Amino acid sequence: MSYTTMWSYTWDLIEDGTDETIRRLRQDVGLEAISVATSYHTYEMLCCHRPGRKFLWAPESAVYFRPQTALYAETPIKPHLSPLARERDSLREVGDRCLAHGLKLVSWTVCLHNSHLATTYPDHAQSSAFGDVYLHALCPSSPAVRTYMIALARDLTTNYPIAAVELESLNFQGYGQSHYHGKYGLRFGPIESFLLSLCFCRHCSARAQARGIDASRLQESARQTFNQFCETDTPVNQSLDDYVRSQPELDAYVQLRADTVSSFVRELKAAIATPVYYLFMGDYYIGGIRYGEIAGIADRVEILTYTASPDRVRDGIASTLAHGIRPDQIVAGFQAYYPASPDQATLVHTTQAAFDQGVRGFSFYNYGIMPKKNLDWVNAAIEGIRA
Ligand SMILES: [Zn+2]
Repeated sequence: MSYTTMWSYTWDLIEDGTDETIRRLRQDVGLEAISVATSYHTYEMLCCHRPGRKFLWAPESAVYFRPQTALYAETPIKPHLSPLARERDSLREVGDRCLAHGLKLVSWTVCLHNSHLATTYPDHAQSSAFGDVYLHALCPSSPAVRTYMIALARDLTTNYPIAAVELESLNFQGYGQSHYHGKYGLRFGPIESFLLSLCFCRHCSARAQARGIDASRLQESARQTFNQFCETDTPVNQSLDDYVRSQPELDAYVQLRADTVSSFVRELKAAIATPVYYLFMGDYYIGGIRYGEIAGIADRVEILTYTASPDRVRDGIASTLAHGIRPDQIVAGFQAYYPASPDQATLVHTTQAAFDQGVRGFSFYNYGIMPKKNLDWVNAAIEGIRA
């Protein structure tokens, strides 16, 4: 039996009529769950279901539910409410209708990619080798960040009928995924991107010190290499693997980063009774994500297969399986609209390709972004993987 869900936003579900929309997603489209954004980054969205004004802007990362403030007493970081959540408790309304129609509610939780909180609490944001504070990225090494995220997961699973918590960006964020339009004039190679993504905040440095790693020496080395790149515009001519492995202290620092992420997922999972799904976005070197280890902690792991090509879907799944992950633990994400899905047949073929690889989890992107007629395509895809 396959698990099927659709990423969605409370505002779209409510504007289209919560009760009828939830009924339709369950009964007509055939979904088992919906994954609703509860903590989300900034966006500009074209709301194609709306008859009137078409755009919605969220200039600040925010939460879309009513937090129980006492749960955040142990951390200086407090949740920032979206104006949409101030007007009404839309997650409550959606959750009630989900219960009524037998649709599971999954919390789609964007974790550390949060420009509002990183800007408000720069002492808990990632910091480059040069001391630049990354205002889009909370650092997973910060105890306050860890306490905040665990409080948020507890809050959601205690106060709302959440069937699973889906974690997006619970890892180090790389340079280049910012809040702003990036401007640069250099020929980046993988090593330069990696060096600029390493965090040397005081929390990372403290963790390094506890493990006998001299973070200040690594920081100075990263600065020197990157400054040379700024002068020459010539990337280091070496694979990232070789570059890291040839420097034992750097290698140890990279391992520490991955340990920091894995232990964070483990602590969060242990703090709640609800299943945890982890969305893989990023890699080992920049994100600190050990795929196999995370799969051993989380109940499901998710990958994005936004492509019209069944072969590329198969490749994406094969590279995930190569980490020793079981196919039935994977949720594959499909963009149910152009260009990944220009028509119904393409979506049916790509989902079928994943099913044939043994994948039993399917998530469709995204209720309010896709034209309403594409819900029929999703239904056809679900019928196909049931057959
Ligand atoms: Zn840090």
